[in-house]
Amino acid sequence: MEIQEARKRLDSSARVAVLTGAGISAESGVPTFRGAGGLWEGFRPEELATPEAYARDPEKVWRWYAARYRQVMQAEPNPAHRMLAQLERAKGDGFLLVTQNVDGLHLRAGSRRVVELHGSLTRARCERCGHRQPLPPPDAFEPPPLCERCGGRMRPDVVWFGEFLDAELLARAERAFMTAEVALVIGTSAVVEPAASLGRIAKSAGAYLIEVNPEPTPLTPLADLSLRAGAAHGLGRLLPDDAGTREEAE
Ligand code: NAD
Ligand code: ZN
Repeated sequence: MEIQEARKRLDSSARVAVLTGAGISAESGVPTFRGAGGLWEGFRPEELATPEAYARDPEKVWRWYAARYRQVMQAEPNPAHRMLAQLERAKGDGFLLVTQNVDGLHLRAGSRRVVELHGSLTRARCERCGHRQPLPPPDAFEPPPLCERCGGRMRPDVVWFGEFLDAELLARAERAFMTAEVALVIGTSAVVEPAASLGRIAKSAGAYLIEVNPEPTPLTPLADLSLRAGAAHGLGRLLPDDAGTREEAE
């Protein structure tokens, strides 16, 4: 069976690259953009998460980010986040987790070999000098934060629609997917580039490609195994029992 083959490959491979999207945090109660709750005061994310929106009305954009920051700090990592932290501990240097998420939940679940391709809701970046700093706790936080280095106004440390990804982070992600023996893509609609192409890169370089998503995506036809399942349930089927929390997964 394909699932057995996938388990065997995952277990025996030294080089594993993982890509996660908003779907993996849905089970922590953090809404995806494309599902219900994708609106905020009648605005679509695409109308707020842009440099133009921020230039026009920084207070409004900061209010939205402050609300999302509070929401993710109230959420807890779920078994899927924890299983990936466990997989990293099992694989060591050959492992990389690339995420499109900005919620910080992978780090809070214990993952360390993580590339946050789209930045993080938990940090701000100075508009003047580029310095990054963590936000104060949600209850102590009044946007906009000011830079501890130069006093300049800070913006959310996330990548907005129409902006470039950090070239170094992207190169690290691409290297991992190019050299992976197994690539695992979880909870992403695989339509936002260039992260969407990581699975394709891995596949054309000969990796075994596994997808976990309740819905089919553009990546599905390429995948060696596509599990129509939620993140925790799907990962629970792929990883050995000692990855923990299988019983919590459903
Ligand atoms: P998306 O909202 O476009 O797609 C979410 C995907 O998750 C869908 O394919 C859906 O079928 C799948 N999904 C839903 N429930 C799932 C579950 N329980 N388990 C597994 N998969 C599930 O998200 P995206 O493709 O990751 O990216 C859109 C952009 O939105 C990204 O740039 C990301 O930065 C941003 N975003 C991030 C967060 C977050 O950090 N948690 C939340 C919303 C949006
Ligand atoms: Zn500064």
